[in-house]
Amino acid sequence: MSHLPRSGFGYDVHRYGGVRPLVLGGLPINCGICVDAHSDGDVLLHALIDALLGCICAGDIGELFPDTDPALENIASGVLLAEVLERCRAAGFTPMHADLTIIAEVPRISPHRRAITANLAKLLRLDPSCVNVKAGSEERLGFTGEKKGIKAYALVSGFLRVAGKDADHDAD
Ligand code: MG
Repeated sequence: MSHLPRSGFGYDVHRYGGVRPLVLGGLPINCGICVDAHSDGDVLLHALIDALLGCICAGDIGELFPDTDPALENIASGVLLAEVLERCRAAGFTPMHADLTIIAEVPRISPHRRAITANLAKLLRLDPSCVNVKAGSEERLGFTGEKKGIKAYALVSGFLRVAGKDADHDAD
């Protein structure tokens, strides 16, 4: 049995102006901004989900949870994340670290950053010291700079349990 390092990258965008009040990392952000989305539109959890799917080479969020599925309308993205974490567990992948970046002109993320980090750590069952949330703007350039939407990036690292004689690191 070996434990091989894996990392996965995720990226997501949501447009402002829809009907879903802004949620980031599973936490409602009380700022009067709504996003356009089929689910709850949690851009940060969507990027995180894609990063986790990358770690187990299991496609992407749109493939797994199509926005044409009426059962997923306004679904909390935490529910989707829980399903993806279960897939990771079944595939033998254990997340160890997550590094995420939110890009938005509005709202200001810094007042919420600590709470978002703590909630992500709870959802991932990681110590908060293993989760990092960064925030930035794009200097009033592009769609985030024009306050038309929000984007997020996520990178997850961890270990994949692999059986077989070819996997000869950390034999146990
Ligand atoms: Mg999305």
